[in-house]
Amino acid sequence: MMLRAAETIVRTDPGRQRSGNEDATFAHAPVFALADGMGGAQAGEVASAIVAQTFERGLPAEGTAEERLAEAVQQANREIHERQLVEHEHAGMGTTVTAAYLDQDSVAIANVGDSRGYLFRDGELKRLTNDHSLVQELVTKGEITDDEALEHPQRSIITRALGPEPIVEVDTWSYPLRPGDVVMLCSDGLTDMIHERQVQQALAESTSLSAAADRLIDEANAAGGRDNITVVMFRAEQGDPASSVDQPTSAYEVSFDEPAFPDDIRPAALPVTPAPSLRAPLARRQGWKPKVPKGMTQSGTQQRHFGRLGKAVAGTVALLAVVFIVGGGGYLATRQLYFLGTNGQGTIVVYRGLPYVLPGGIPMYETFYVSGVPASTIPADRRGNILNHAVRDQGSAIKLVNQLELGQITR
Ligand code: MN
Repeated sequence: MMLRAAETIVRTDPGRQRSGNEDATFAHAPVFALADGMGGAQAGEVASAIVAQTFERGLPAEGTAEERLAEAVQQANREIHERQLVEHEHAGMGTTVTAAYLDQDSVAIANVGDSRGYLFRDGELKRLTNDHSLVQELVTKGEITDDEALEHPQRSIITRALGPEPIVEVDTWSYPLRPGDVVMLCSDGLTDMIHERQVQQALAESTSLSAAADRLIDEANAAGGRDNITVVMFRAEQGDPASSVDQPTSAYEVSFDEPAFPDDIRPAALPVTPAPSLRAPLARRQGWKPKVPKGMTQSGTQQRHFGRLGKAVAGTVALLAVVFIVGGGGYLATRQLYFLGTNGQGTIVVYRGLPYVLPGGIPMYETFYVSGVPASTIPADRRGNILNHAVRDQGSAIKLVNQLELGQITR
């Protein structure tokens, strides 16, 4: 059976709290893609636009539908990675991607990050992708439920993205389709704001995909619209695929509504490279050197070189360790995040990264600085506030440990 995309809908909306829109789409049957960019300033928009442009140039000719999608994603990743290395203003930019290819009687899906693909069939919504996110890791481990994931404060942390590494692992699947099936790609601005049950209901009760898309955007905004909201949908019908090429039945609509909040309350994007001035006092006083894990040498503030020992695991660790926090139009790589804790000797340590261990025992942090202060010297009533693994920027983590070393918090 041959299927074609009978109705194609693209809707994107900045939401209620962001002034910009870092989501980008490509919809030109039989290929559909959605990217949710992240990065300081306008870097996120650049990253997601590269994905759209890559798909616009067309898929590689060779391979299965899944392979062709994955290779297009790989190409986009290479371009984003290279540009973020070379162009200072785009340093650290990244993006998710979810792409679909309607291939005769099935749909191939490729995914990196926490945008999603769904199949809506016979009134039921089924998720086709798996999120590369911290909360998904926790759900998979059985530590939290799907519903708890929706409310989790770290739900925007993704564990895989295009940009941080020269090669990205792309997940792909193929699902058989039937006439009448609706495939939907969406950014987390939809699924973080409204429950999948609500998405299913909107699709079930709408008389057209266009009406469904409008309703989904309205409901995500009504729920707070904390992020850019984007949906790409098509309905598969029996027919010659050639007849569906480039005939979306609804125009690409972008809402330019003013954001509900002024720009100046959005958190500013944080610097991508650690500020050297913040480390200077420690370095001078104690001949301080950052501790570098075995097998890994470090030079400069950004470039990492993996030694022989670390090489085997370096790819995996780097893939998992470069994690983005999406928030208020800015983001941080985990390498710009710090927290205080204690080591096996009970000494207070500044760790770089996030206070989590991924499945397989891979820590998302490394020792950054070992203080000379035993945790036991901190008054018990202060200990909780200091060693609660609260994530801090480098400046405040070092300031705090400085105060501890100078005895300013001992009484
Ligand atoms: Mn988003």
